[in-house]
Amino acid sequence: MLQDAESPVRAPMVDQARLIALKRFHPAGRGFWAKVPEQDWNDWHWQLKHRIGSLAQLERLMPTLTPEERSGAQLANHKLSLGITPYFFNLIDPADDRCPIRRQVIPQIEESHTATWEMTDPCGEDTDSPVPGLVHRYPDRVLFLVTDRCASYCRYCTRSRLVSNAAGYDFHPQFDQQIDYIRRHPEVRDVLLSGGDPLLLSDEKLEALLRQLRAIPHVEFLRIGTRIPIFLPQRITPALCDMFRRYHPLFMSIHTNHPRELTTEAREALGLIADAGVPLGNQSVLLRYVNDDLTVMRALVQKLLMCRVRPYYLYQCDLIAGSAHLRASVRRGLQIMQGLRGFTSGYAVPQYVIDAPGGGGKVPINPEYVLSHNKDRVVFRNFQGRIFEYPEAPDGTPLMPPPAHIEEPQCAWER
Ligand SMILES: *Cc1c(COP(=O)(O)O)cnc(C)c1O
Repeated sequence: MLQDAESPVRAPMVDQARLIALKRFHPAGRGFWAKVPEQDWNDWHWQLKHRIGSLAQLERLMPTLTPEERSGAQLANHKLSLGITPYFFNLIDPADDRCPIRRQVIPQIEESHTATWEMTDPCGEDTDSPVPGLVHRYPDRVLFLVTDRCASYCRYCTRSRLVSNAAGYDFHPQFDQQIDYIRRHPEVRDVLLSGGDPLLLSDEKLEALLRQLRAIPHVEFLRIGTRIPIFLPQRITPALCDMFRRYHPLFMSIHTNHPRELTTEAREALGLIADAGVPLGNQSVLLRYVNDDLTVMRALVQKLLMCRVRPYYLYQCDLIAGSAHLRASVRRGLQIMQGLRGFTSGYAVPQYVIDAPGGGGKVPINPEYVLSHNKDRVVFRNFQGRIFEYPEAPDGTPLMPPPAHIEEPQCAWER
């Protein structure tokens, strides 16, 4: 048993006043860029061109930079580039050196420390890659990396070996090769576009990709993994959303870690995507001093529902080199999950997972609810810690004879 399930479950503590404050929507505002014409500010190309990408820029905009951040920013360009859109930069509280937004995008010197168990490819993606930029780990779906660029760079990026191309990985995906692989593998029914951020491609390039994938008869389901609605909501234009409508069923997974990232601008962008019929999910990473706190996490998942986004996964932070200062414990993750299930809408509760180090895939990690299970009964507790039992039914004789042999389609690398 994972934890001492028999000890009474303590009611999780949530600070109600803070919860209400965190759930309020605010605009990111114009901050340092108050004089920039509205038209430029709302132009995603302008936002990208004016990203904060150097220590000199950071020092000019943030006099409160700590020595640890200054050294971190100096080293960043050899590992994972520094890059923050002006829009997202405005969410940082310069007076707070533990600001949850700041910790996600401003490098710290600790990034240059690598613990013995940390890796540059913590999920072993490169070993499950039959052609460059394609990861085929699970039987029926592939991860299709379309670019190494993002609108801003998350300091705990699990793919920092290739993302931003600062570490010399030389990432040049050949869409033809990736698409050809999918065409030749009828077991692939689900294609997940990621990177880098696929929404940095032009509408035309993205549409060409979606069109080619949709033309493959065995591809049933398309999805895009993106942080653009959070880093660069200006990119979510009516034209882009109109294009999405032509490629259904198309789902989207966004990446949000803290309720303050859900601004009025982000809510509007997410509404446009939802109006185009694209179901939205969210993936969060459990991060120390960012969201390893029940009040913050409850505010985040409830606020996501208000933005029409269903929390999908909560990831234990991968063992990426230089991330120790951002990782929270699995114990903390379980406590937070315990404080969500039953205490708030089931739709607001993500699945907590660890992507198994070295390449085992995502494994669900759950607080223990089953106390015992034998052939007569199952004994379990509810979210409040009250104990119940349910009589086990006999399995009986199957109505249908079992199939002669059961063979799941295998991944290419298993053959
Ligand atoms: C996460 C992931 C997927 C998608 O997994 P789902 O559980 O279906 O969301 C597919 N391929 C790889 C390599 C992944 O890491």
